[in-house]
Amino acid sequence: CGIIGILGLTPVAPLLVDGLKRLEYRGYDSAGIAVLEEGHLDRLRAEGKLRNLEAKLRANRKTGRSGIGHTRWATHGAPTERNAHPHATERVAVVHNGIIENFRELRLEMEAAGRVFSSDTDTEVVAHLVTLGLIDGLSPKEAVQATLKRLTGAFALAFLFEGEDDLVIGARRGSPLAIGWGSGEMFLGSDAIALGPFTDEITYLEDGDSVVLTRAGATIFDADDVEIARTPTTTAGST
Ligand code: GLU
Repeated sequence: CGIIGILGLTPVAPLLVDGLKRLEYRGYDSAGIAVLEEGHLDRLRAEGKLRNLEAKLRANRKTGRSGIGHTRWATHGAPTERNAHPHATERVAVVHNGIIENFRELRLEMEAAGRVFSSDTDTEVVAHLVTLGLIDGLSPKEAVQATLKRLTGAFALAFLFEGEDDLVIGARRGSPLAIGWGSGEMFLGSDAIALGPFTDEITYLEDGDSVVLTRAGATIFDADDVEIARTPTTTAGST
């Protein structure tokens, strides 16, 4: 029910949890993060409250500076650790708010292509679709944009890629998602509140947009994959 993504200058795990705490007001049943540890996707997920995730983090510290995080309000699949986001393959991790309405057909198609699923969620098909695109030689951006065209339903998504320490990709259709601008760091979140601790320079994505984040900035694409400018706003209370 809440999304955060950070390309940071320091270890991001505690920052991801801070951002998720600011999204607790939306309600959730489980939570998780994925960070790149020396280039490798590394996930930590927990049922229940964020303090359960924090306890796991204390026992298993992460030093990666790129990551995504999620608080889940289960719609498909019980609120268990196995169904908590991020969902991941060998190539990509994804967090998702909303519902992928055609996930059953897509899952059958992915399974026929040899993909093995490890959750009961509607979300996991997204990770496998992107992975097949990457295996076919698409770039991360191309693989995400091709995947978006296959999805029906409402969603906000954030992706982190194996071996890509300076890349987070986001997309939204029907669920909110905002970019936060830092200096040498970039942020993605469900709303400006989640990004409050990090920046007050916010750009709200519009419906159908996708965005490629690096530490140097953001490139936004509209529903037709055409690069487009979206006006940043400065949130109230800032100077
Ligand atoms: N439909 C997804 C799931 O049940 C995402 C739910 C959410 O928005 O948190 O895992």
